[in-house]
Amino acid sequence: MYSHSMQYSILEEYIVPSGEELFHKFLSLLKYISENSPFYRHKFSKENVKIEFIKSLEDIRILPFTYKEELRDAYPLGLQAAPEEKVVRIHSSSGTTGKPIIIPYTQKDVDLWIDLMKRCYMLAGLTNKDRIQITPGYGLWTAGIGFQLGAEKLGAMAVPMGPGNTEKQLQMLMDLRCTAITSTSSYALLLAEEIKRRGIRDKIHLKKGIIGSERWSKKMRARIEEELGLESFDIYGLTEIYGPGIAQECRLHDGLHYWSDLLYFEIIDPITGEILPDGELGELVVTTLSKEGAPLLRYRTRDLTRFIHGQCACGCPFPRIDRILGRTDDMIKIKGVNIYPGQIEDLIHKVEGVSSEYQVLLSRECGKESMLFRVEVENAHDPCFRQTREKDIKKAFHDLIGISVDVECLNIGDLPRSEKKSKRVIDTRDI
Ligand code: ZN
Repeated sequence: MYSHSMQYSILEEYIVPSGEELFHKFLSLLKYISENSPFYRHKFSKENVKIEFIKSLEDIRILPFTYKEELRDAYPLGLQAAPEEKVVRIHSSSGTTGKPIIIPYTQKDVDLWIDLMKRCYMLAGLTNKDRIQITPGYGLWTAGIGFQLGAEKLGAMAVPMGPGNTEKQLQMLMDLRCTAITSTSSYALLLAEEIKRRGIRDKIHLKKGIIGSERWSKKMRARIEEELGLESFDIYGLTEIYGPGIAQECRLHDGLHYWSDLLYFEIIDPITGEILPDGELGELVVTTLSKEGAPLLRYRTRDLTRFIHGQCACGCPFPRIDRILGRTDDMIKIKGVNIYPGQIEDLIHKVEGVSSEYQVLLSRECGKESMLFRVEVENAHDPCFRQTREKDIKKAFHDLIGISVDVECLNIGDLPRSEKKSKRVIDTRDI
């Protein structure tokens, strides 16, 4: 028997379900969606799904996946599975390509989500004495409001800034002596660089950062931690499920705990759809066990991760996944080799003097594919230094990934920074 550590004793009110309990939760979800969701009723009849064949958790693998495209096709409110009078809010994915996905929430959905956010703050060791500056966006996007309501539920002081306006952000950080910040990794980096440039680090009182919504390399993370002087916690989530807060790191930073009482996770081979043996890298598939407004069955997140074995030494009994190592659609296939962005980030972490900011340009000339890797390095203005780095990085690609690439080293700050998500791969092969 392991014992709960003091730090997470407060999380004891949440019980990790046994296999049998999970199965019952799954069955009630299936019953709920076949009675209440026009989207799933239609899908089940079209794909000839018979939920009475599901006799154990093992049988779940015969149920169909739900794809992002189907959610998009259900625009605007085709996913709604609760009566109008129970729906209190909608959120929507950013919809950079095509129609957005709209997710309706009942009050119960909102309450459970806020509770997940509160649990995440507790996992990071935050309490009602903290002041939390919230920099992700508000509105249709889930992040800002989720972080805020979770902070309030914890009893902390929420400072609802929203994105941008760096001047005001820094002023609030200094004047209110905020102890925690929630942010995307690229915005945290932007703030860190600005604080360094102005030499105001001693006026910043941050201790913890809850940082998510995009992948970030170890190197970028180390820079954010060092320059903002905080301990960072990787948080994961997506609008289609609840929003941020469906998984987060604890103080040991060895993977992200996920809330298995409300969400059922599977890891599959993104090509074949088969469930992978425990611990193998694959696509995360999520089933919502308690959602009413827009429940999802076996939703293909397109995020790549793996399960982490065993109980975490931190004392939190909830299971863990690895940090997100890439997206199935970010997978780069070049010269017959599959590369995940996570691999590139691990690679640059191993080469000295190389920053976390990079860009990959893929092109094809006369049928020959090539990859140019552009990366910011220290002392790039020194031609001798730059050449050595370029050689080192070229060698690392050859040794660690098995392909030859062209490398161009740039000065720190040369690549574009964004307040939202950085675009790192530019593929001109099909143009
Ligand atoms: Zn832990």
